[in-house]
Amino acid sequence: MRRITIPELSLVALVGVTGSGKSTFARGHFASTHVLSSDTFRAMVADDENDQSATEDAFAALHFVAGRRLRAGRLTVVDATHVQREDRAKLVALAREYDVLPTAVVFDVPLAELRDRNRNHRDLADHVIRRQHEALRRSIRHLAKEGFRKVHVLSTTDTEVVVEYEKAY
Ligand code: ATP
Ligand code: MG
Repeated sequence: MRRITIPELSLVALVGVTGSGKSTFARGHFASTHVLSSDTFRAMVADDENDQSATEDAFAALHFVAGRRLRAGRLTVVDATHVQREDRAKLVALAREYDVLPTAVVFDVPLAELRDRNRNHRDLADHVIRRQHEALRRSIRHLAKEGFRKVHVLSTTDTEVVVEYEKAY
């Protein structure tokens, strides 16, 4: 069993390629109201969770809600790929603004497994999965430097994960 510790009041970024298991993990480990998902916000602003043209508006709305939650002292989990540094930087900035600890939970899944899952998941073009995977692999070692105070990297061998909460200071 793998235990991971998350500060009681933190902004948790789930980080992983499409199909790596972020939403499945979020459903199994957090209350649904803690989780802000980019799909949900795309649907809210554009009636379609797959509408990529709605990405900018969806994230503007998501970050607004995340800020209000953090201001109220509520644990907030953001379910989006976060494989690009600039997408993560926004979350680190938000966490700093509200003086909470940014935490990263990374889903490190081998490319072959991601390709398999993708066929029954979003069925995206292979190069999309490959590029996201490359970006993720490059990102992992920079996360602490980017400002994430805790970085948990989960691999496919971590089949049973328990989330524990700790007081922030
Ligand atoms: P996206 O970024 O596209 O939303 P995601 O990271 O949220 O993807 P999920 O929707 O959680 O990924 O999972 C994608 C697929 O992989 C689902 O079919 C799910 O059942 C499967 N899956 C999720 N977690 C695991 C796991 N730990 N082991 C095996 N299969 C998994
Ligand atoms: Mg998902």
